[in-house]
Amino acid sequence: GYAEAVEVNEVVADCLFLTQHSFDRRAIEVATDFAAKARIEINRSELQQVLINLIVNAVQAMPDGGRLSLATTDWSEDGATVGAVIRVRDTGHGIAPEDLSHIFDPFFTTKKGSGTGLGLSISYTIVERYGGRIVVDSRPGEGTEFALWLRREPRYD
Ligand code: ADP
Ligand code: MG
Repeated sequence: GYAEAVEVNEVVADCLFLTQHSFDRRAIEVATDFAAKARIEINRSELQQVLINLIVNAVQAMPDGGRLSLATTDWSEDGATVGAVIRVRDTGHGIAPEDLSHIFDPFFTTKKGSGTGLGLSISYTIVERYGGRIVVDSRPGEGTEFALWLRREPRYD
């Protein structure tokens, strides 16, 4: 899709609204910290798709409840703002170390009978296409954080 100047905080808030129903039924507490000021050039619905994938995964990792944290900050290099970082963090079951290198592969899923294994691979493709990065940090039994590093002006491959 076409790229447009997007306010990341607005898109994160929209995605929270769109996914709210999936955690209202569970004991999931939501924390937000919208500190980003930068606007980024990206297709809004593609960014929404990525964020919704990450939020749904986070919620599914917390079947007995927990905390979902969404945070945005500017991405600065040498004092200049070059983009924005969006972090989606959960206090769920985490990712087994042996699975970490496979989670972005198409059709890789640990959700027996219910997962397509496509969410992260599609998200990875979208983020990389804009020259951004998607970084995961997970501790089994403690939780997982996905960070999206998105450039203000994308570098297309
Ligand atoms: P699906 O959700 O259909 O399984 P995804 O591509 O979205 O496919 O995710 C692939 C796999 O990565 C999941 O099956 C799960 O094992 C792991 N995963 C992704 N996000 C999380 C998370 N927040 N916490 C724990 N595991 C995760
Ligand atoms: Mg998924």
